[in-house]
Amino acid sequence: MRDTPIEATIDFDADGIQHGFLKLPHSHDESAWGALMIPITVARRGDGPTALLTGANHGDEYEGPVALMNLARSIPLHAINGRVIIIPMMNYPAFLAGRRTSPIDKGNMNRAFPGAPDGTVTPKIADYFQRTLLPFSDVVLDIHAGGRTLDFIPFAAAHVLDDPDHQARCVDAMQAFNAPYSMILKELDAVGMYDTAAEDMGKVFVSTELGGGGSVTARSAAIAMRGVDNFLKHAGILEGTVDTGPTVNLDTTGEGCFITCESRGLLEMCMDLGAPVKEGDLIARVHDVHRTGGTPDEYRAQTSGILAGRHFPGLVDMGDFLGVVGTLE
Ligand code: ZN
Repeated sequence: MRDTPIEATIDFDADGIQHGFLKLPHSHDESAWGALMIPITVARRGDGPTALLTGANHGDEYEGPVALMNLARSIPLHAINGRVIIIPMMNYPAFLAGRRTSPIDKGNMNRAFPGAPDGTVTPKIADYFQRTLLPFSDVVLDIHAGGRTLDFIPFAAAHVLDDPDHQARCVDAMQAFNAPYSMILKELDAVGMYDTAAEDMGKVFVSTELGGGGSVTARSAAIAMRGVDNFLKHAGILEGTVDTGPTVNLDTTGEGCFITCESRGLLEMCMDLGAPVKEGDLIARVHDVHRTGGTPDEYRAQTSGILAGRHFPGLVDMGDFLGVVGTLE
């Protein structure tokens, strides 16, 4: 396969803190010989494991960029044993546009793996992670949130994996992140995901959903920053002990956790995120917006637990994710 066209302006093997760019040639109408300059920080002190930290895998999710911009400007090098690679805005064109996917090629980064060095911009970035960054990383944290169309209770997540030892190492790192909720996930469509790429290489991988609605709150940013700190301490890369607090363990791998909308119209949520749910409880109504006097469609819980995620905008369409109930472990 051909070499990546991406060049790092920093030296991954040098000790110290370096701020630079992943430089991706991008020829377009406004800049014939131009390049996309994706910000990156690398902090290294001696030998030790490597952590790879990313935000804005989806461009409209902001807890990752906020937490990682703060880490990049304040990382305490004297307390690092190993290497921390910080890329706050993984799908940088999408981030700049405030959108989930890239405005250049419509690429959804988390469906673009393993990527391609001769593809468009999004697969080129994915390929750089797949063949350059992931192989020399030991622990990988990808900070997501709901973006403009979803909202979640703040949780860190680990996946159901074929190898129970591998899954246990990921679950331990998720618990160390110590978000208010900790979620075991089974992906419905794992092909093309960054998560799957990292897990297939046997890496310790943790992702999150820390809020949503296309913005960040003081609370969700604080959860992200504390979680990153804990994640690095758990990996032995940052000195200090993990700040352990209570977390609620949830699971969405059972039947009936996910609720899909089968109508279109005005969304009326009948309970809020974090509410306890019993099977049969009314979660939402969807009103037909074309006439008054009709009976709204009702969406009821098919299992018991906690309302962990929801559709965010006020209008909803056929096939939209309406909500997810996390079952208590
Ligand atoms: Zn996301």
